[in-house]
Amino acid sequence: MSGRPVLLGIPWDENSSYRRGAAAAPPLIREAFHAESSNAWAETGIELTADNVGDAGDLEPASGAAMRERIESAVASELARGRAPLSLGGDHAVTYPILRAVARTHPRLSILHIDAHPDLYDEFQGNRFSHACPFARILEEGLAQRLVQLGLRTVNRHQREQAARFGSGVVEMVEMRHWRDDFDPRLDGPVYVTVDLDGLDPAFAPGVSHREPGGLTTRQVLDLIHRVGSSGAFVVGADVVEYNPSQDVAGLTAMVAGRIVKELAAQMLAGG
Ligand code: MN
Ligand code: MN
Repeated sequence: MSGRPVLLGIPWDENSSYRRGAAAAPPLIREAFHAESSNAWAETGIELTADNVGDAGDLEPASGAAMRERIESAVASELARGRAPLSLGGDHAVTYPILRAVARTHPRLSILHIDAHPDLYDEFQGNRFSHACPFARILEEGLAQRLVQLGLRTVNRHQREQAARFGSGVVEMVEMRHWRDDFDPRLDGPVYVTVDLDGLDPAFAPGVSHREPGGLTTRQVLDLIHRVGSSGAFVVGADVVEYNPSQDVAGLTAMVAGRIVKELAAQMLAGG
């Protein structure tokens, strides 16, 4: 069971390295999701309405462990009401506290992770909760049985060693240089989808803090989301993170984020 999706804004970017700004994203992604320039239908033929997509608003900002606890408890309370959390970041540090809640409701979870970066650092610039580290914390705590990473183009020796540390078959890194359009992540059971917008090429999503050329097209990301549920998998939660409005061009990246949110919401509704 996926449950009805509920939007949850997480305006938090204090764990960003290099450049902040993602905390300003949630209201702008929500605005793009509702934009009258488009309609309320997902490409897959599901109409998104106030009745089938909830909105829990934005969390009040806090700092450090207090904010992680606030995120975890907000997500847990939506799950307890049978809803599927669809979180709007914020930077990628939000995903660790979200997963702490999701994994309690959905053991044997797989994660589909779209990103230019593996985000597997043991620590980054002295911060173990950096947006460069969430998947190290998630796997250390056993919050997922499998992590499939797509769109990568910054893999280094440390992160390759980190991936190996969690055991064979747990982390599957698909580097962008090996990308094939017919790639099948072979997921089944409950799946959490986390979309870091820098996984897309900056030509499609310039509004991010860490632009890495050579990434996925918007079309490739939407096709991946549409294929998630094709082999018995169902989406129990998702997030769209790392939108940085201060780096955007004419709101283009917000519209990409809004479209991705629509297709994720529809996958949740289709999954029962
Ligand atoms: Mn990331
Ligand atoms: Mn990234």
